[in-house]
Amino acid sequence: MSGPLRLTGSPASGGYAEGPIFRLDRDTASYVLKGSATAEAQALKAAIQAASDQLAALASASTGDAADMLEFQLAMLADDSLSGPAFDAINAGTPADKAWSDALAEQIAGYEAADDEYFRARAADLKDIRQQVLDALTSAGDRTAPPGAILFGEDIAPTRFLATDWSAGGGIALSNGSSASHVAMLARSRGVPMVVGLGSAGMDIAGLALLDAEHGGIVLRPTEGDIDGFRKSSKAYGERRRRAEDGVMKPAATENGVPVRVLVNVADPADVDRIDIASCDGVGLMRTEFLFGKQLPDEETQYRAYRKVLEWADGKPVTIRTIDAGGDKPVPGFTVEEGNPFLGLRGIRLSLARPEVFRVQIRALLRAAVDGNLKVMFPMISVPEEYTRAAALFAEEAKNLGEAGQPHAMPPLGIMVEVPSVAIAPELFSNVAFFSIGSNDLTQYVMAAARDNTAVAALNSVTNTAVLRLIAAVTAFGLLHDIPVSLCGDAGGDPTAIPHLLKAGLRDLSVVPAQLALAKAAIAGVSI
Ligand code: PEP
Ligand code: MG
Repeated sequence: MSGPLRLTGSPASGGYAEGPIFRLDRDTASYVLKGSATAEAQALKAAIQAASDQLAALASASTGDAADMLEFQLAMLADDSLSGPAFDAINAGTPADKAWSDALAEQIAGYEAADDEYFRARAADLKDIRQQVLDALTSAGDRTAPPGAILFGEDIAPTRFLATDWSAGGGIALSNGSSASHVAMLARSRGVPMVVGLGSAGMDIAGLALLDAEHGGIVLRPTEGDIDGFRKSSKAYGERRRRAEDGVMKPAATENGVPVRVLVNVADPADVDRIDIASCDGVGLMRTEFLFGKQLPDEETQYRAYRKVLEWADGKPVTIRTIDAGGDKPVPGFTVEEGNPFLGLRGIRLSLARPEVFRVQIRALLRAAVDGNLKVMFPMISVPEEYTRAAALFAEEAKNLGEAGQPHAMPPLGIMVEVPSVAIAPELFSNVAFFSIGSNDLTQYVMAAARDNTAVAALNSVTNTAVLRLIAAVTAFGLLHDIPVSLCGDAGGDPTAIPHLLKAGLRDLSVVPAQLALAKAAIAGVSI
């Protein structure tokens, strides 16, 4: 037997897992021919029904983003235009598995070739649906991973993640994948260790594996020494997490007693149902893109979503960001097709280009401002005129609401600092109410390294001197001119980045809820 195989990737969800490899891409089940076109058609019909039932069951047990995605897949599966070509092929003599696979392959190729990012992203849903029906046809769906297994493959479908029982541990190791994917977000929120970008195509991946998703690596065919070292690191990580959880209800402070406010980032109003408001200092970023998922939401829908979070926060600050569509967040019927969407019509640029859509959100926010401690911020601001125009729209809509006798209030209006032009010249924006540093975008624009591309993940580092220097400069400018500065990018919850951010002067961090405890513990370990 050959020696250990050590592969390095990027952590997508922290933690450690030791267990047998379960290959996601090895389908051992083979299809049994049914003997007649009628029986083949019946088999396909039954498989589609079985896949729909499984999706419906998963959807009823899910909330937020996961539920939205599952409902979208259910709707697609119910669409006759998806299965029609497969049934036609069965009538012409093709077995059900091939007919379904070919019909979906054609649709997937069509979506993958689309110019619009939104349609390209839907190809992943179609692949997921294709697999679920094939699994039902061949009974491969029964191929469940053993408890505690490390699921290995090129990528993993979100439904596979949701259908897996993680209660006995286990993890995910992907040769490809992205830490910005849907599954990565799910893994972080459920505490499932996950590593992406292992680049292990063609290698013999099997047997016992040690997955280190704290640093981003996996060891196959480990030696006794590897196993010992791994268990020590895993134990130390578990103890750090437990200690951190014990301290989650205490206000955060550095080792030498400097208080730091730690807020949470939320996307779906349902997110706050799982968070005790006493464990954080409010909401530093509420993303509103989720509301714009399938269609443009009306004023009432938005108002209710904002009010829910404000009421939950019980007087603590809630910073809601106006729609940041475009880039990696396409919204059908709103974003436009363009060659390089990260540098295109996204964030505030798009909102200002479509004032009829923006005004609906503005009215909902102005109305919600009477229900709590609301602040509003604009994403992707690059020049002062964008802020001035957005603020003018707020003033106009406030006047309209006043004339209509609708209760409303004007919240403080701030901006995201995520485009280098703002970080380099913050003095041009001295009239805003606050700055919130978006380290995800700021880092990708400063380093010219896309945030969702594993091939350049090493370059996309918030601790690069140039990025940290800009963060420190904006923070110092805010302090000097009495403009509050916070940070709401993922770096705020990254224990390795936190010491650098505090040393850069930040005292307000907004983090994903799953990182709240570890972020507070990391703060407690820093002396400034
Ligand atoms: C950021 O860019 O850091 C940020 C918080 O915004 P988003 O991740 O939604 O682009
Ligand atoms: Mg951003």
